[in-house]
Parts: sequence; structure tokens; C-alpha cells
Amino acid sequence: MIDFTLTNEQITLQKKAREFAQKYMIPYAHYYDKTGEFPLPIIKKCWQEGLMNLSIPKEYGGPALGVVDMCLVVEEMAAGCAGMTTSIYANSLGAEPILVAGTNEQKEKYLRPLTKDLKFIAFACSEPGMGSDVAGIQTKVRKDGDNYVLNGAKFWITNAPYADTFTVIASLDPSQRHKALCAFIVDADTPGVKTGKPVEKMGHRASVTSSVMFKEAKVPAENLLGSEGTGFLTAMATFAMTRPAIAAFSTGLARAAMEYAREYVNKREAFGEKLRKFEVIQFKLAEMYMKIEASRLLYLKAAWEADTSGDSTVPASVAKAYATDAAMWVASEAVQVHGGYGYIDQYPLEKLFRDAKLYQIYEGTSEIQRLILGRHVLDGYDPAMEKVPGWGSMTPPDF
Ligand SMILES: Cc1cc2nc3c(=O)[nH]c(=O)nc-3n(C[C@H](O)[C@H](O)[C@H](O)COP(=O)(O)OP(=O)(O)OC[C@H]3O[C@@H](n4cnc5c(N)ncnc54)[C@H](O)[C@@H]3O)c2cc1C
Repeated sequence: MIDFTLTNEQITLQKKAREFAQKYMIPYAHYYDKTGEFPLPIIKKCWQEGLMNLSIPKEYGGPALGVVDMCLVVEEMAAGCAGMTTSIYANSLGAEPILVAGTNEQKEKYLRPLTKDLKFIAFACSEPGMGSDVAGIQTKVRKDGDNYVLNGAKFWITNAPYADTFTVIASLDPSQRHKALCAFIVDADTPGVKTGKPVEKMGHRASVTSSVMFKEAKVPAENLLGSEGTGFLTAMATFAMTRPAIAAFSTGLARAAMEYAREYVNKREAFGEKLRKFEVIQFKLAEMYMKIEASRLLYLKAAWEADTSGDSTVPASVAKAYATDAAMWVASEAVQVHGGYGYIDQYPLEKLFRDAKLYQIYEGTSEIQRLILGRHVLDGYDPAMEKVPGWGSMTPPDF
């Protein structure tokens, strides 16, 4: 039996997130998009409302929500403001390597503070010279007595200037690629750790992105996550848990774009008719709706796999690749439906268009999702037919 019904708790949670987006995000989204300021008051409110750090287990003070629950929340928030949601959700990304590979002591020391106070934890994987090729990480680490010593540079790190803690992937020997990667928890005030200035971005301007430099930064050996050489697996397991949420972000953004378009075609007239009367416009709305519905089903399936099977890599790639492309398409068509008004900042469409683009890039680009899926079809997929039959003969059946 298949059941698409949400539980009462999930409906309550979804409603709470929707109300939060309407009350605290939408009214301020334009301001933060224009100024590029970090939306600290909104994030603080979100933390106070218990809508942040959702995956932290109860024993460390968190609500222990599943990936499905988190996705329902972030769809609502991304419909409010993509940039603010990236800032808020970056804590879940930063904490995930600890959830995946941390010991009870590491979880107690680094997850509990996130639930006691508003603290930021950032995931530092990408570097100036690489993002997609995680095995190509160049940030070096060496063992030195009871410490590991980090040297190198990370780039594109969301929330880095505000981070209290980083989860960092570094290499014992870059020539050994994925086999030499290790994951660490690094306190931001460690001597030798320095963050750069926020970079100017096209969209998600209510999120802050900067470099992080490590110069002879000493990290206690007990801050190694898992064992030496397991950093690549930790990074991949992290993405398998977090990518469904990027598909949910995309669904929320696309839904908002469609709703703005729906409202506009009910008001705007051309050739003496409301735009809603034109079949071409109706078809655009129909296509938007189909893509949003499909995106939601895919993120729910991926999130359900993450909650139940423990390996959601393939469905997460399907959901992320599909929903992020869908959001880009819906945002573009919603701009189109608004004509010239879609292109200026009198309406939020041009912001949604700029914001949608990032979904196709971060947490694994659209191309990387397709690489994962291509490899799955060729090498991992279990064919439904025992043996692919040849083309039938020309003999008619005699039964
Ligand atoms: C606003 C923002 C926030 C971010 N936040 C974080 C963060 O918090 N933490 C973090 O670690 N990273 C973060 N990132 C980094 C992000 O994950 C990377 O930018 C992304 O993974 C792509 O890496 P890249 O930019 O180095 O592009 P590249 O890897 O250089 O790729 C360039 C292009 O080539 C394509 N490509 C690469 N390899 C292949 C291939 N084998 N086959 C086909 N096509 C290929 C890519 O799909 C892409 O289109 C963020 C990025 C941005 C822009």
C-alpha cells in the first residue's frame, strides 16, 4: 500500500513553517536581496521558533525530525526567501558530517550548543580550484602528536564569517585522491583559521559566502570524524541526506513563482482580454504545475529513502537534478508571463529567477547528478527483465 497522507504532526509543522515564511521572511526578502546584509534577526527568530537544526537528535537537545519533515519545512521557507533559507539550512549541512560520522562525545560537544543558543556551523568542502571533484581536495592535513595540522583554502563557504564551527574535508596526500580524505570538526577561533570577505552574488543575497583559510591550524586528534581515509565517504553520505532538501527548496521557489504568475494573469489585460483567457498562458501554468507536483513527489521519495533505507544517493540525485531544472524553468516562464514587469524589481520574479540558478550549482551541480545517475544505470541498476529479449520473430502466436 502506498500512502501520500501527511501525519497531523507534519501538517502542523508545515503550517508553522508557512506562517513563519509569510510573517517573517516575505516582508523582508526585498530588503535583504537589495542590501546583501546577513538576515540575522530573521535567523534568530527562526531559531527561537524551533524551525532550525531540525535533524539534531533528542539526546543532544534537538527535535530529531526526519528528512521528510525537514523537506516540508524548507519548501515553505524557500517559497518565502531562498537566500534566508540557505542561511538557515546551512547549519543542517554543517552538522550532517557529525551526525553521519561523529562519536557520542563529538555530538555532545558540537551539536548540543546549536540547540542551546543560536550558533553557526558551516560545511567547508569546496575550494578555489575544485568543487565538483571532491576527491581532488588540495587542503592538506598532517598528523603532529596529539593534533592534526591543516593548511589550505576553502571557498564558497556559506555562513563562514559567522561560523562558530566548521566541518572540514582535507587530504593527508592529495595524490591519493579520495583514499586520503579525512573529515574534521574545527573551532572557528582556532589560531590559523581565517575567513575572507563575503563575495558579491547574483542571487541568494540574503546568504553570506566566503573563503576560509587554514595556516598551520592545529586541530585536536579527537576532532577527526570517523577514521583517517573516510572523509570522502562522509562527504558523500552528507550529500545523500541533504540533497533532497535542495529539491524541496526548488519546489518552494517554483511554487511561489507560479503563484505570482497566477495572480498576475488574473489582473493583466492584453488585446482587450485578461491574460488568463489565452490558452498559451494556461498551458504555461499547467506545465509549471506539473513540474512542481513532480518535484514534490521526487523530493518526498528521496527524503523517505533517506529516513528509511539509509542510502538515498540515487533518488536524491534524481530529485535534485529534476527539481532544480524545474525551478529554473518555472522561474523563467513566470518572468515571461509578467512581460517587462517580470524583468524589473517592482515584482519579485527577477529575484526568483536569480535565486533559482544557484540550486543547479551548489551541493553537486546538475551535471554531477547526471553523472551519478548515468553510472547507476550502467553499473548499479538492477534490470527488470532477466535477459533483454531480442526483437520478436515474425511467427504468430499459436496459443
Ligand atoms: C552561493 C554558493 C554557496 C555555496 N556553499 C557551499 C558550502 O557551504 N560549502 C561548500 O563546501 N561548498 C559550497 N559551494 C560550492 C558549490 O558546491 C560548488 O560551487 C559546486 O559544487 C560546483 O563546483 P565548482 O564551482 O568548483 O565548479 P566546477 O566543479 O569547476 O564545475 C564547473 C562546470 O563543469 C561541470 N563539470 C565538472 N565536472 C564535470 C564532469 N565530470 N562532467 C561533466 N561536467 C562537469 C560542472 O557541472 C559545472 O557546470 C557554494 C557555492 C555557491 C555558489
